[in-house]
Amino acid sequence: MITNEFKEYAESAIIHTYNRFPVVFDHGDGVYLYDTNGKKYLDFAAGIAVNAFGYNVEEYKETLKNQIDKLMHISNLYYTEPMADAAHKLAKASGLKRVFFTNSGTEAIEGAIKVARKYAFKKDGTTDHEIIAMEHSFHGRSMGALSVTGNAHYREAFQPGIGNVVFADFNDLEDVKSKITDKTCAIIFEAVQGEGGIYPAEKEFIQGIRKICDEKDILLILDEVQCGMGRTGKMFAYQHYGILPDVITSAKALGCGVPVGAFVVGEKAENALEPGDHGSTYGGNPFVTAAVSKVFDMFESRNILDNVNNVGAYLDGKLRELVGKYDVLKETRGLGLMRGLEFNVPVGPYINKALERGLLIISAGTHIIRFVPPLVITKENVDEMIQILEASLQEVE
Ligand SMILES: *Cc1c(COP(=O)(O)O)cnc(C)c1O
Repeated sequence: MITNEFKEYAESAIIHTYNRFPVVFDHGDGVYLYDTNGKKYLDFAAGIAVNAFGYNVEEYKETLKNQIDKLMHISNLYYTEPMADAAHKLAKASGLKRVFFTNSGTEAIEGAIKVARKYAFKKDGTTDHEIIAMEHSFHGRSMGALSVTGNAHYREAFQPGIGNVVFADFNDLEDVKSKITDKTCAIIFEAVQGEGGIYPAEKEFIQGIRKICDEKDILLILDEVQCGMGRTGKMFAYQHYGILPDVITSAKALGCGVPVGAFVVGEKAENALEPGDHGSTYGGNPFVTAAVSKVFDMFESRNILDNVNNVGAYLDGKLRELVGKYDVLKETRGLGLMRGLEFNVPVGPYINKALERGLLIISAGTHIIRFVPPLVITKENVDEMIQILEASLQEVE
């Protein structure tokens, strides 16, 4: 646990936007993290769905070290092999055509919004196009991404946003339909809502939206920042639904620890952005794209999706057992290794107890614990997690 002295030292120089847990992490190994006192923690948060392979992974570290020795950064005015390789692998894995690398998920959303507006602008020369986003969605904190985030509390102080955004109820096809106008240029949502509480899209909803978007030439943008990159047992969550979006955003596990995101466009919008329309100094530099490229290789060589499906089903079973056993638990839902456990009470005290007992779990909203562990966890790791969680449940009660 943290000393008051260190807490004061850190807090006095950092803008207070996070209420941090009282722990100072030092290093990681496998699916465990170690604090500066050497205490060990089982990690079921993975840096919020980032560290898909866990920590201290030789093969991954080697790739990054080699790239540091060659070239870390060069501007987007020039080509590099890591960027070209990473772009091809991401395009292939997503079934889409062209990639723009960003430095975060938020920036990927910004890019996707620009694609939609430019696509519509090129069609009719007007500029007052609308975007439909979902209630309880999360897309990031910059002004554009915030403007499509369905949490009024996050937006309130920072109005006005980009404008021309309307919100519909997630999984309510009729509500989305009722909000479409001649000006609608895009519909954006997460195939599995993450921050909003781990709510997977229903098949009729996502397929229904695909159909309307085709009929009305509206771009379907799916935010795969959290639910993508193998998290749900497919490389991208929309692949569970038999549809292809027009634009996706990726980040989090895309680089497994280096700051990188991307937006990827399909055939329809592949030429929407033209030279001069978008840019980034760091975006897709050789250091981060060497990581992305390696991540895709390791997904294959380590059969990550098989593990997500096996261990994900096991985790689901164990969580269902808990729901049957404890009145404080309401339900569990999710896909693969993206699971939510909804409580009838706020989850904060349970998460704090788990931390004391050496388990990292995080919330999604006030009443839901979210499980987004490294994708390499084993059934034994799940058993260990459940044991600590159960002890925490009993202790708080
Ligand atoms: C985390 C997240 C973002 C924002 O990504 P950053 O890398 O934090 O900017 C956007 N969309 C979803 C669904 C996310 O989970």
